[in-house]
Amino acid sequence: MSDEFDVIVVGAGPAGENAAARVVRGGLSAAVVEEELAGGECAYWACVPSKALLRPMELAAEVGRLPGLHLGETDVGAILRRRDAMTANLDDSGQVSWITDLPAVFLRGRGRLAGPRRVEVTAADGSVRTLRARHAVVLAVGSRPVIPPIPGLAEAKPWSSREATSVRVVPRRLAVLGGGVVACEMAQALHGLGARETTVIVRGGALLERMEPFAGELLDASFAEHGIDVRYRTEITRVDRRKPDGQVTLHLSEGPPLVADQLLVATGRRPATEDVGLATAGLPERRAVEVDDSMRALGVDEGWLYAVGDVNGRSLLTHMGKYQARICGDVIVARSRGEWDDLPSMRDSADAAGPPQVVFTDPQVCSVGRTEAAARREGLPIRTVDYDMGRVAGASLLGDGYTGRARAVVDVERQILVGVTFVGPGAAELLHAATIAVTARVPLSELWHAVPSFPTVSEVWLRLLETYGL
Ligand SMILES: Cc1cc2nc3c(=O)[nH]c(=O)nc-3n(C[C@H](O)[C@H](O)[C@H](O)COP(=O)(O)OP(=O)(O)OC[C@H]3O[C@@H](n4cnc5c(N)ncnc54)[C@H](O)[C@@H]3O)c2cc1C
Repeated sequence: MSDEFDVIVVGAGPAGENAAARVVRGGLSAAVVEEELAGGECAYWACVPSKALLRPMELAAEVGRLPGLHLGETDVGAILRRRDAMTANLDDSGQVSWITDLPAVFLRGRGRLAGPRRVEVTAADGSVRTLRARHAVVLAVGSRPVIPPIPGLAEAKPWSSREATSVRVVPRRLAVLGGGVVACEMAQALHGLGARETTVIVRGGALLERMEPFAGELLDASFAEHGIDVRYRTEITRVDRRKPDGQVTLHLSEGPPLVADQLLVATGRRPATEDVGLATAGLPERRAVEVDDSMRALGVDEGWLYAVGDVNGRSLLTHMGKYQARICGDVIVARSRGEWDDLPSMRDSADAAGPPQVVFTDPQVCSVGRTEAAARREGLPIRTVDYDMGRVAGASLLGDGYTGRARAVVDVERQILVGVTFVGPGAAELLHAATIAVTARVPLSELWHAVPSFPTVSEVWLRLLETYGL
């Protein structure tokens, strides 16, 4: 097999796989290097298993809102088996075939940049092979969880999202450190599966702090209703664990120590750049790879290096990594033909405007574009419009006591939406309409003619426009 390819992709997560697919579609040859499982974090330890664990809880909550329906016993084993099936029992042969069928060459091993257009691949047996790229190298190595420097924490071997999403025995007493998306989703999933005493420890004053404030407030109310204890403005000052899997004692900045069977740390992620040879490309190590809007790394002579997905630190979301990968692949193909002319379709504009994101809790939280606070920080001339989603006929038909809220952030000069947030059961499926309106900058006067069907929750669109004055 030749060691020379048009493009070498390092990392076969969703971003890397899509970059390879796109360059092959454009007629270039590609090699994909993966040290663990093709499919990446998303397929085995992140998006897919977490949603497989959350879906039964969402359905149970929905049944609880409908009189006359009753849930039987929860079969935790069956839920975990379905999770295992959704993650292909950690067998990546299907994903590997997808790559080889592109066709691209798949190489299992650790990839490391070794100077311009070169990648060294170290296989599990220690053998090293050096690949050369004719056009480009795409780094798509993802991210790793951050463990904060709290005394005793690393020694206590806490769970990260990997252990939480691949849980086999659900701890009865669970402590979760963090108040962001992963912390909220996994606290609710594990609580529903049997972590009866779940405590979420949040350094700040709210859950989901980067979203509209009402998102965290409604989620907090749901946590309280389900019996999940949230401790705000609280820090862990020390962690004690005597035996590897024994109970863990958390010393807190507020109140008495908390004893739990397991501690999940969900305090963010950092780019997986500690040992990928960035210095050989003239870049700083251990940082996100800064890219331009065509995903080309800044500061690399001759511009042969690209970075897509979590590793560039733009948006730590699968769909955004895949979007970046499509752009990157097309740009590499166009540049290889000398045709690239900075076309708008080959430039990332979705990340900066505020990517679409869903938090799959009950209630679901979803948003696209800017929050009110972000729009004000940017100095945009905005007005916000809120609506109680429980008042929409379609929502009340979905279940009794439907609680939710919508917010539209309107640029009053341009008469377009620059941000939308929905919080409510099943709200995730409302998001794409908002994404189209925000991304395509649909004028409100045109949006007015997009008539939502009766009786769907989408009628909230009409109510938002009416509240705005249309
Ligand atoms: C619990 C959890 C739930 C999430 N849920 C969602 C969700 O619902 N929706 C969503 O959009 N996002 C979600 N995310 C975020 C999402 O998982 C990431 O944004 C996504 O996986 C990033 O894709 P990627 O291809 O950049 O990186 P990854 O998926 O991390 O893939 C990187 C790949 O590179 C490989 N690799 C690393 N270094 C090397 C090397 N040196 N050589 C060879 N291979 C290497 C890794 O083994 C891995 O396979 C979630 C994250 C977590 C933690």
